[in-house]
Amino acid sequence: MHDRKIDLPTREMPRQWYNILADIPLNPPLKPDGSPVGPEDLAPVFPMNLIEQEMSPERWIDIPEPVMDVLSLWRPAPLLRARGLEKALGTPAKIYYKYEGGSPPGSHKPNTAVPQAYYNKVFGIERMTTETGAGQWGSALSFACSQFGLECKVYMVRISFDQKPYRKAMMQAWGGQCVPSPSEETQAGRNALEKDPQTPGSLGIAISEAIEAAVSDTSGKTRYSLGSVLNHVMLHQTIIGLEAQKQFAMIGETPDVIIGCAGGGSNFAGLAFPYVRDKINGQDIAIYPVEPAACPTLTQAPFVYDHGDTAGYTPLLPMHSLGHAFVPPPIHAGGLRYHGMAPTVSQLVHEGLIEPRSVRQTEAYEAGVLWARSEGFIPAPETTNALAQVVKEARQAKEEGQEKTIAVSFSGHGLLDLAAYDKYFEGELTDVCMLDEEMQASQEVFSEFPKPESLKSGK
Ligand SMILES: *Cc1c(COP(=O)(O)O)cnc(C)c1O
Repeated sequence: MHDRKIDLPTREMPRQWYNILADIPLNPPLKPDGSPVGPEDLAPVFPMNLIEQEMSPERWIDIPEPVMDVLSLWRPAPLLRARGLEKALGTPAKIYYKYEGGSPPGSHKPNTAVPQAYYNKVFGIERMTTETGAGQWGSALSFACSQFGLECKVYMVRISFDQKPYRKAMMQAWGGQCVPSPSEETQAGRNALEKDPQTPGSLGIAISEAIEAAVSDTSGKTRYSLGSVLNHVMLHQTIIGLEAQKQFAMIGETPDVIIGCAGGGSNFAGLAFPYVRDKINGQDIAIYPVEPAACPTLTQAPFVYDHGDTAGYTPLLPMHSLGHAFVPPPIHAGGLRYHGMAPTVSQLVHEGLIEPRSVRQTEAYEAGVLWARSEGFIPAPETTNALAQVVKEARQAKEEGQEKTIAVSFSGHGLLDLAAYDKYFEGELTDVCMLDEEMQASQEVFSEFPKPESLKSGK
């Protein structure tokens, strides 16, 4: 009966990432005038070795040895059977979770922060800039930069900066510098403050600031880094699903349902993409990205071309988007507040290969607390969105008397998010949904942009 934790031996750690671009078609990134973006257009923002990865058609990409070395501090990550939750729900479903809370910053994000810092270092870069929402990505990149001797500067969304002081201290512990966004340091920040001096900030604004700070450094030794959305980020995260596949093979199981929460899409993609490949090759498997109802990018926003940031510095990306000027309601405490979504994840939704779901904030916290009481681990607020969907699936399996196998990405622990749990216990968290008028207003920004073509994967 000691089959609750399935450990993959270190020597079995995957040595290559899976690149889904080999198996699905994608509309290219565009300039606002409609012409395609070439590698040289991105060169001021990212190092060329990562730009090549962003556009690579190769199905398998080697993980460099120095990256393997750092990842092996906490990888392979365990696959765990949620027996406690199964019992609490009385479900015949078997529930497994891939635990990503064991990395130094406590989430899946270092899976890409580490290779990104490594490729920047190899390219001769000395300083990286980035944005962070809840602080998870800023801490992951600060950690990764410290491993490779790079400086790190993080623009943190104002409301989180005020609400989550410990994340800033964590970044500082790894030598990172953290400033609230919008700041007075950049034109994008000054513009946002002029428009609304009391703004809670947004990821879109913080991204604009971090890009501006990178490209305006005349030494040429600074580059920007993004923690989700882009193809190379999804690529680096596939180590999650590739490990999971080996672990499921060890116990002779295959999952019927794959679930992950989706903000920009990276932890979901990490677990799901290797299984999407199986699905394209004919396997019957249900795959659900789960988002909060307060930021319904995949479930309600259209598939369009839009900027990844508020100031419009990024190319136009083909994705589901609420509009690049979207500022989420400040009361929403569950993370996952980005206006867009990874183009790869958006394309899979467009093709019907994966089916998005949304959950309400209180539903998510309820599942998080049920999880803590049955499984022990306290999930990050983001993760609770996925867990709420797991609970729904497990209850449905009970009603239908089905013995299906569910695999979920447990993207991070919530030990630095206890203030949000506190609010939930005090009854201060309510359900926020976007109104139709708000949806329409936030989406006016992309009405003038080109529209993505409808592409289909060959089977
Ligand atoms: C950042 C984060 C997310 C959301 O980002 P994705 O790119 O969608 O994975 C989810 N869970 C945790 C714990 C995070 O830190």
